[in-house]
Amino acid sequence: MTDTVRLSSAKQSSTASKCASLYCGRFAPSPSGPLHFGSLLCALASYLHAKRNNGRWLVRIEDIDTPRVEKHTIQLILDTLQAHGLHWDDEVLFQSQRQHIYTAYLSKLQHSNYLYACACSRRQIRARSGSYDGHCRDKGLPFTANSTRFKHTTNNSEFVDLFWGKRHITHNIATEDPVLKRADGIFCYHLAVVLDDIEQKVTHIVRGYDLLDTTPVHLSLFQALSERAPEYMHIPMVVQKPHEKLSKQHYSPAIDNAKALENLKMALTYLGLNSEKMTDMLTVDQILSWAITNWQPKLMPKQSELLISVVNGVYSQPENLLATFVGSGVNKTSTNIDKPE
Ligand code: GLU
Ligand code: ZN
Repeated sequence: MTDTVRLSSAKQSSTASKCASLYCGRFAPSPSGPLHFGSLLCALASYLHAKRNNGRWLVRIEDIDTPRVEKHTIQLILDTLQAHGLHWDDEVLFQSQRQHIYTAYLSKLQHSNYLYACACSRRQIRARSGSYDGHCRDKGLPFTANSTRFKHTTNNSEFVDLFWGKRHITHNIATEDPVLKRADGIFCYHLAVVLDDIEQKVTHIVRGYDLLDTTPVHLSLFQALSERAPEYMHIPMVVQKPHEKLSKQHYSPAIDNAKALENLKMALTYLGLNSEKMTDMLTVDQILSWAITNWQPKLMPKQSELLISVVNGVYSQPENLLATFVGSGVNKTSTNIDKPE
């Protein structure tokens, strides 16, 4: 069986929702916890950008990293999106059900000589240099029981972001050989995210600034697979303190669906829309349709991080939002970029 045949049959049996329109956006949360304000902001920005461009907007649950997945949060995430009027087109895709597709693409990459097996432990890598130095590239180790790495021979560390313009990523991740499949058989984020974006024909990705540094890896994977890469827009990341992304580990509270209207108003203010114009809006649908008309990425503050305060488990916007914006596009703010939450 040729790779082409294998891939096309994988495509037929997949439930990947294909975008027919010119613009296709998506929100791809990892269900390691319920949505917090930062993830709501990403969902909202990607939704608004899709709808403003008469596009379709998909939701994909990135539940590939099984040990970190908390299954019960999947429904919570979907309920939160619905409560905030963020209704997706087509069916929700679950990465956990798509192993056969990842396997088929991986063998395509293997046939093109893009893969090698690596036996290095994190400790060994750290002891050598901290970043992966291609140690096992030419060793011809067996793939079984070892991790599978991508021979990263292209350099995409420079790219144009739809919001930030030309970016040059200096983080090691931009050029090192990423693990695509772990020794325990789990497919990694970089592989799954790119393959699903290909299969779902996603044209525009709006996501958090914390993923900016991973974009060169994704661009290289699209290139290796001879697929056209989507456009990327990285929106400011919401932090409780400088460089501390909202997350379950930092006890960021879950979004309260009962306050959907207020949450949307606050999120839109963070995206740079005029809060005074929102005062009279009384329903989720009303505010969303106003926001679709008024959304413009350039209204967002050109900051890598936006501060929020959490008082007694409730998010609150600092009094003078603009004065609290921290960081900048050139700051190193990424955290946990190998395995996004
Ligand atoms: N699943 C990733 C996360 O929740 C997002 C992936 C992406 O948008 O590319 O951080
Ligand atoms: Zn190695």
